[in-house]
Amino acid sequence: MSRFKEIEYQCPYCGKQFTIHAYESVNAQEDPDLRDLCLSGDIFRHSCPHCHTDFMIQYPLVYMDPRHKFVIWLNQNEAGRDMHAFSMPLVKQGYTLRRCATLKEFTEKIQILEDGVSDVAVELAKYDSFIEFIDNRKGKPEDVTSVEYQNTNDGVMKINIRTDDKGMAFLIPMAMLEEEIRAEHEIFEVHDEDFPLVNSDWIISLFMDSSGQA
Ligand SMILES: [Zn+2]
Repeated sequence: MSRFKEIEYQCPYCGKQFTIHAYESVNAQEDPDLRDLCLSGDIFRHSCPHCHTDFMIQYPLVYMDPRHKFVIWLNQNEAGRDMHAFSMPLVKQGYTLRRCATLKEFTEKIQILEDGVSDVAVELAKYDSFIEFIDNRKGKPEDVTSVEYQNTNDGVMKINIRTDDKGMAFLIPMAMLEEEIRAEHEIFEVHDEDFPLVNSDWIISLFMDSSGQA
């Protein structure tokens, strides 16, 4: 069941008060309309009924998808408490559990996990694509504005790298990524019960750690 609470909110533009429906949890299977709003990020878009200005108000949200067996907890901050009472039963049922720190990570994560693809493989593919982009002198690291997962078809993952004036797609076979992960599985291991972040900062930290120890 999806749940929301009503919050009194002061419009940052006209200063008047109004009530917003802030979702605390969304069940994608029961509420496909809310799933669509999460995927687009529009669930956090609100409109002031007084001055009619649109703006984003972001708050923590738990997103559950029983059909694809994953839970994403959108929260900038760590729990600061033990989540195991909530997470362990889900882990036992084979759920993937993740925390996302930003809305951009959240919308991309929904897409990845609906595709049934390992997000560890996605982050590795994004990292490899970025390195290849730089090594082949297609651009400088500071020119890259985004590295995004696009899709996975017939065992091939597509990653897009964008700069201000151009974009470039990288096609990476899943088998290659899986092989790379298998070879160093202890490095890539994640613990679902802790709602880990699996994002670009995470993958960079893995490579920094392993090169630091070498
Ligand atoms: Zn207003």
